[in-house]
Amino acid sequence: MSTALVPVLPYIFVLAFGLIVGSFLNVCIFRIPEGGIPFSEPRSHCPQCNAQIAWYDNIPVASYIVLTGKCRACKASISIRYPLVELASGMFALACAVNFGFTWAALVYYLLIATLLVITFIDLDHMIIPNIITLPGIPIGIAASFLLPELSLAQSLIGVAVGGGGLFAVSELFYLLRKKEGMGMGDVKLLGMLGAFFGVKGVLFTIMAGAFVGTFVGLILIPLNRSKGLDLRIPFGPFLASGAIVYIFWGEFLIYKYLEYARGGF
Ligand SMILES: [Zn+2]
Repeated sequence: MSTALVPVLPYIFVLAFGLIVGSFLNVCIFRIPEGGIPFSEPRSHCPQCNAQIAWYDNIPVASYIVLTGKCRACKASISIRYPLVELASGMFALACAVNFGFTWAALVYYLLIATLLVITFIDLDHMIIPNIITLPGIPIGIAASFLLPELSLAQSLIGVAVGGGGLFAVSELFYLLRKKEGMGMGDVKLLGMLGAFFGVKGVLFTIMAGAFVGTFVGLILIPLNRSKGLDLRIPFGPFLASGAIVYIFWGEFLIYKYLEYARGGF
């Protein structure tokens, strides 16, 4: 074997691992809102014709391309979202390995991103962030502080309090002022979970980055929908998830740049 190939091999395994996990994430997105357990059914079925999907038609991304996006049995079209989730999962696994090396931090952050992908699509589909994901996520994040060199147990615990508690206060205040629920309790629990993984600094960064992306998207979507006379509800979960992913890869750099800028004066 050529020596140049050897360093690449672990990354190919990481990509394959991410693609396979992505396939499982699709099942989670589909099953968790129904109250089902993602592991309960051993084989996948076509949602249209209920035909069992053979293993060779269930290979992440590749099968979608081979089948040109159609079920082999009934030719019903398969949502492009399935291969996109698989691809995103694979690319994020690769990005974590490249960015953090073959470390516990890489694994922890990848699994967190995978969870955020599930939350994003469930929130887009159903406007909910399931407790079954975020509530166990809080103690898992606290436990992960033992694996993350830059996060102490104390920072993790304070992160939960600030992420969950701080936003809960904002959401209550919003309710008092507007008599309308602006941010759901699902978002509050998600921020509690992110606080556990990130600490205070990271969870505040996530809220700001999420609000920034959310405002930008809102400015585009709200006028479009108002003209159609629809009462638009934009789920906030996907924006918080985007903010969290930005923090994982670029947070330290952006905070450093911001502080450098702030110190230099305006
Ligand atoms: Zn079918």
